[in-house]
Amino acid sequence: MLLPHNPNAFTRSPLDRAGHHRRDKAWLEAALAAPETQLVPFYRHQPFVMEEGGVVGPGWLNGAARTRIAPADATLLFLGLDPKGAAHFALDIPDPAPLGDLGRFEDLRGLGPRLSREDLAILGPAKSIFEWHARNGYCANCATPTLIVEAGWRRDCPSCSGEHYPRLDPVCIMVATFGEHVFLGRQRAWPKGMYSALAGFIEPGEAIEEAVARETLEEAGLKVREVRMHSTQPWPFPHSLMIGVLCEVEDDRETVDTTELESGRWFTREEAKLLIAGKHPDSWAPPPFAIAHQLLKTWSEE
Ligand SMILES: [Zn+2]
Repeated sequence: MLLPHNPNAFTRSPLDRAGHHRRDKAWLEAALAAPETQLVPFYRHQPFVMEEGGVVGPGWLNGAARTRIAPADATLLFLGLDPKGAAHFALDIPDPAPLGDLGRFEDLRGLGPRLSREDLAILGPAKSIFEWHARNGYCANCATPTLIVEAGWRRDCPSCSGEHYPRLDPVCIMVATFGEHVFLGRQRAWPKGMYSALAGFIEPGEAIEEAVARETLEEAGLKVREVRMHSTQPWPFPHSLMIGVLCEVEDDRETVDTTELESGRWFTREEAKLLIAGKHPDSWAPPPFAIAHQLLKTWSEE
């Protein structure tokens, strides 16, 4: 895996996180007042976006807008510095009214395919962090309300001194292959004809490859023989890290667990190419925005 080649949406942010500034309150205040600083509001975990000439992008405001659009205690997150050194922030606002009709708030999943790779990589972590704050207002040790520190990246407990870091849930996602065939599953809730990679949360005590083998056996009754790492993807719905692998199984005699999947199906390599191109006669795969697409694409081209 070469660092510059990650094919997945939400990766390769143009921002330097510049984590050493997170504790420096004076630096953060000065950055907010700087004319080049950019601030994007969020409301109910949705980013503020603007559209111009059919192109959608984050609705960047000046840093000084902070006090005009939200109360002083609104959660502010320092996202980092762009290549020119301009600071970028996200602000979780409690009321969208001050923004009027300047733009709109929109769900990031729906926006995904229409935003640039750079914009997704900037907005994704902000969404994950705001979701985490919304669910973690109290100390898990002693139930005292916690305080936001580190420019939005940590919560501290004033009672027991506990430090709480953002939650990240690792998920393994895999396309199982047997020779020239690939196995894909579909869940009942998915749109008609959609097939995708198998996936599951990695549990404490499991190596990634062990979780891949367990999930593949549980969901499809297939025994994994070999695991190949492909790439990983931060997935902010709400805060997963997708770990994408290609795995070869021992045979093609599947037993689908119908409590987890509606069905599963083998596709040839040629069919996989059609799925990727959106030209398969009766089935389709997730769009390039999803790591499942990238896994299937890689295998189909080997
Ligand atoms: Zn505590």
